[in-house]
Amino acid sequence: MTQAAKVASNYGRQEMLIDGVWRGSGSSQVQSTFDPGRGVPIGEVPFATREEVEAAIDSSQVAFEKWSRISIFERVKYLFKMKTVLESHFEELAATVTQNHGKTILESRGEVHRMIENVEVAISTAYTLAKGETQGQIAEGIDEQSVKEPLGVFAVITPFNFPLMVPFWFVPFAVVLGDTVVLKPSETDPIPTTQAIRFIQEESGLPPGVINLVQGSRDVVETMIANKAVRGVTFVGSTPVARRVYELAGKHGKRALANGGAKNCIVVMPDAKIDSYVPAMVSSFFGNAGQRCLAGSVLVPVGGETHGKLIGKFAKAAGEFRVGYGMDEATEMGPVVTKASKERIEGSVERGVEEGAKLVADGRGKGVHGYPDGYYLGPTILDDVTQDMRLAKEEIFGPVASVIQTDDLDGAIDLINRSTDYGNMACLFTSDGGAAREFAREANAGNIGINLGVAQPAAYFPFGGKRESFFGVLHAQIDTVDFFTDKKVVVSRW
Ligand code: NAD
Repeated sequence: MTQAAKVASNYGRQEMLIDGVWRGSGSSQVQSTFDPGRGVPIGEVPFATREEVEAAIDSSQVAFEKWSRISIFERVKYLFKMKTVLESHFEELAATVTQNHGKTILESRGEVHRMIENVEVAISTAYTLAKGETQGQIAEGIDEQSVKEPLGVFAVITPFNFPLMVPFWFVPFAVVLGDTVVLKPSETDPIPTTQAIRFIQEESGLPPGVINLVQGSRDVVETMIANKAVRGVTFVGSTPVARRVYELAGKHGKRALANGGAKNCIVVMPDAKIDSYVPAMVSSFFGNAGQRCLAGSVLVPVGGETHGKLIGKFAKAAGEFRVGYGMDEATEMGPVVTKASKERIEGSVERGVEEGAKLVADGRGKGVHGYPDGYYLGPTILDDVTQDMRLAKEEIFGPVASVIQTDDLDGAIDLINRSTDYGNMACLFTSDGGAAREFAREANAGNIGINLGVAQPAAYFPFGGKRESFFGVLHAQIDTVDFFTDKKVVVSRW
């Protein structure tokens, strides 16, 4: 078994990377960032001032002039170094994610893998998708060519739940294509992101300004979007903020892509191999303590018989899920990210019970031996949920499964398509290829899973959602090749 790396007990006030130099913020607005497994502060996050954000953008703008002109081979070499640097700090990065976010060390290692995969895929695009097209002799003596050009500075705004993977859905792609970025991690758990960028900056020799990093929240984001030098913004976070960022970007004439929240249904047909797939279902709902945009949120047994067979097995497996401190290798579910999240999730459960849902498993008040102040919840299951309840409509973003039975597959698809405005993921468990095909075609969600509980696209596929789970046209990961470049057409006669 791999041994988790040692972590610091306190990371102090988080710095910002501006023009190749790590510096503190002059801001008086500062908040603590925690180890949610122990419920103790492990650092502080300043909220950058307007001047600091503008200095970062100016630096990225200046860096762009040179960076966009160096050869693609040179840029790729930097990305190979980036990959090597991240690999050499693999365990340390994983441990910091667990410490600052709370997820298990196994989940954190998975996240670091995903982060590095995005660097690898970004490298591959430099030699493939970044190429333009040429057609000779479109008329006598005339050839036409289209080239993809970098645009300039991009703002990259990321959420708390994947502090390493989500920034890397964007940063390596922008950088290899010749753009420069100002990255703003979540103020909730900025330590892993800041640490990764520090390793890259100090050990890969990346020129100053290609990647800048600022700390903060709303004001920082608004300053970035309003700044003329910023050509576009990528956002991942909750739907209300995604919508706001998208609108703001539109107002300022910027290109934007904004991934929002989710309310994902996991549908189980009567012919599903329940015994084989219960672990995948449990992991979908309770892995990462339910804090994944691709987490199951509503469990949908089709028919009373399936309901009867499924619930006992699902609840038993959920009850066996080992909740604990994420650094303990045996832990299967860590805490949720903040005390406020824990209280909000407990409030949703309370309201659900008041609305008439039946508690099958109650994870509130879950204690973990040795960690009395951690923000722990156990897997929670509410049965007899109806489509009109808030439990069925609102994103909870915690380890809570709401069970809604439907009569048939059409009813389940109708539930997915009508009960919420989210459309991030929908999964079906079945042995019937025809049902799987119908589901994949009719469920109005951006990511469809068949016989798996987390339909996460690999880095060389796009990552987006539908309806209120996504605002924009081009998605994250591979689609950013077009998002981060502009097409120019050259028609020449010789
Ligand atoms: P959040 O919306 O609270 O914050 C996301 C980012 O926006 C942070 O960097 C934050 O500082 C910034 N921000 C917050 N308020 C802002 C405002 N008013 N204006 C501008 N910027 C603002 O999200 P979170 O709690 O960090 O992350 C959880 C959410 O992210 C969930 O809803 C989850 O579903 C979603 N998420 C979606 C995807 C996806 O691909 N669809 C992936 C991961 C997470």
